[in-house]
Amino acid sequence: SQHSPFSLITAGLVDQLIPARSKFDHKGNYGHGIIIAGSHGKIGAAVLAARAALRSGIGLLTMYIPRDGYPILQSAVPEAMVITDENEHYLSGIPDLEGASAVGIGPGIGRQAETVYTLEEALRNSNKPMVLDADALNLLAEHPHLKDLVPENSILTPHPGEFRRLVGEWNNDFERLDKQRSLSRERKWIVVLKGSHTSVSFPDGQVFFNTTGNPGMATAGCGDVLTGVITSILAQGIKPTAAALCGVYIHGYAGDLAREAGSEAGLIAGDVVRYLPHAFAAFE
Ligand code: AMP
Ligand code: MG
Repeated sequence: SQHSPFSLITAGLVDQLIPARSKFDHKGNYGHGIIIAGSHGKIGAAVLAARAALRSGIGLLTMYIPRDGYPILQSAVPEAMVITDENEHYLSGIPDLEGASAVGIGPGIGRQAETVYTLEEALRNSNKPMVLDADALNLLAEHPHLKDLVPENSILTPHPGEFRRLVGEWNNDFERLDKQRSLSRERKWIVVLKGSHTSVSFPDGQVFFNTTGNPGMATAGCGDVLTGVITSILAQGIKPTAAALCGVYIHGYAGDLAREAGSEAGLIAGDVVRYLPHAFAAFE
């Protein structure tokens, strides 16, 4: 109802929030995103996030990754530009965020001490809302003073384990929802708490529950895909609130189309990427 702070993310809502492309557009109209991702053994997370961002309409994408990921990323995703950290295996340096219309950080970055420095500098140098996921969230939980550096209206995408590290334990779903809403209110963050009914909470207290997605998506890399989708939509100049809602819905919808074409057990994160174009087709 009008007075309830709780709503569902529906196709109709997403359709209103996603702008149509104009015939005269060029790639400069669709932003330049930077995704900071990957470490030795987890370059695949960077690949998945990159493919997802490109399949979600971004104009230009730069990936900032550890040095030994370079040949992997360039061959797996030729559409992406790559900047490498000086360290071979994990992130340790300062990513240049100049000119980025959106920044995503976290997939596969690991929790090396040096990577805290990369996160801190990215937070300090970003003057606009960012997308934070995975080990970026775990590092925030381990170094709470960094929370003060996260720009307002940033989108955080924890799964329940990452959320627990950020806010502590809860006894039931109601307490969990309370903690989510408090975190959004107190920090002015958009919190995407992932699961079978992903909930998206806003600084004003509103909460939206997603209606797409399936248990086939409980598989490695699906969260990295979501980071790519949301960063891509944000980079295109769509407001953080709308980017979070559209990203969550379309990601789940692509997962549903992938299940339809195969099965829940057989679904892998790359399938979700593959069905992103079909999911976006519903909104063109
Ligand atoms: P992560 O745990 O970071 O890999 O993220 C998993 C992604 O898959 C999130 O976007 C979840 O919402 C989605 N997902 C995982 N399990 C389910 C499920 N049972 N139903 C719907 N979506 C799911
Ligand atoms: Mg994850």
